[in-house]
Amino acid sequence: MRPVTSLIAFDRALEIVLGDAVPLDRTETIPVDQADERVAARDLLADIDVPPFHRSVMDGYAVVALDTLGASPAAPRELVCTGEIAMGAAATLRVGRGQCAVISTGAPLPSGADAVVMVEDTTRDAATIRVTKPVVPGQHVGLRGFDLAAGNPIVKAGDILSPARLGAIATTGRTTVEVYARPEVALISTGDELVAPGQPLGPGRIFEINRLTLAAIVGRHGGAARALPIVGDTLAAIEAALDAAATSDVIVLSGGSSAGDRDVVRDALAREGRLRFHGIAVKPGKPTAFGQARGRPVFGMPGNPTACLSNGYLLLVPFLRRLARLPAWEPKTVTRPLARRITSPEDRHQFYTVRLSGARVEPAFRGSGEITSLADADGYIEIPAGAGVVEAGTEVGVTLF
Ligand code: AMP
Ligand code: MG
Repeated sequence: MRPVTSLIAFDRALEIVLGDAVPLDRTETIPVDQADERVAARDLLADIDVPPFHRSVMDGYAVVALDTLGASPAAPRELVCTGEIAMGAAATLRVGRGQCAVISTGAPLPSGADAVVMVEDTTRDAATIRVTKPVVPGQHVGLRGFDLAAGNPIVKAGDILSPARLGAIATTGRTTVEVYARPEVALISTGDELVAPGQPLGPGRIFEINRLTLAAIVGRHGGAARALPIVGDTLAAIEAALDAAATSDVIVLSGGSSAGDRDVVRDALAREGRLRFHGIAVKPGKPTAFGQARGRPVFGMPGNPTACLSNGYLLLVPFLRRLARLPAWEPKTVTRPLARRITSPEDRHQFYTVRLSGARVEPAFRGSGEITSLADADGYIEIPAGAGVVEAGTEVGVTLF
């Protein structure tokens, strides 16, 4: 056995991890309909006016505004309706003084007309239209380029694409957009006892879950997960897995990072002289390693599922968001009284999982190996090293997942 000694503080660990987080420069051009939540890689300028023509924004009559001056129900202005403007075609009618044409929302304003009277402000008698309310030039008209003028920016480099921004891109007719690549995260689980869900569970075996839980948070925070096969507890097997993972931007190992003789992840990192730390003064997640292998940043997460996922949230997510050029994650917090007394190890900063239960906060932490510590929790409270005990009734700040 080789105990994990020389623990570093969590804040220092995060600082080291973020110090190695280099935003990706790689970009890719993808269909707009797949670009939600991606980060625009370039300023994108409109190459057409939107709308591309002056158009009516009301159903009614295209008119010469001057002809409606002074109109009221008592003194309507009479116009001759000369036809209807077709939707989806160039307006061929010309509206002269004393004339009007039926127009629908979205149809092009015919030449001669400079405003639209709402149908609600008219009465009709065959071809005679009586206007009961005046309009001014431009009224109820959407001017060409009013939404987006050609040459103006639709999105800027670094903008995170949203449903509305995808719409703004598509309204200029574009079908693709250049975005920053999502950091690819290779996920390797180590352990002779691990079996992939769906396979038969032999004696002494357990189902492997860390690739799945990590892949889910990678996907939520701008990365692309790449699950590699489960590997056994030998340095040779881990070295081979690192070779296979080396094309990814980040490598995350789980298991094999603690004190057992079979825990050889740190050896794999130390071999390249790139072990940055091994051991953080936190609970859960103490036996965590970080360094580089094959020129890639490598996280050596504890195999215990709650410890692994907790580190995923606390270390991998900030790292990944920086690579992906996403802003730092700002989880919501609520402050409520603790329902029951909690004890915490004196020497470690604890991220203690809790559940919101009515107006109170219930402890949810069972142990680092129990995934239900997280699955049955809504968030966590932080108990600093040295605190020892948090009494029932204490107002605690809960960070929600
Ligand atoms: P280790 O970090 O390899 O010492 O593993 C600590 C504990 O977590 C052991 O009980 C392992 O069986 C378990 N474990 C390790 N990796 C996984 C995994 N990927 N999925 C589920 N349990 C795991
Ligand atoms: Mg193991």
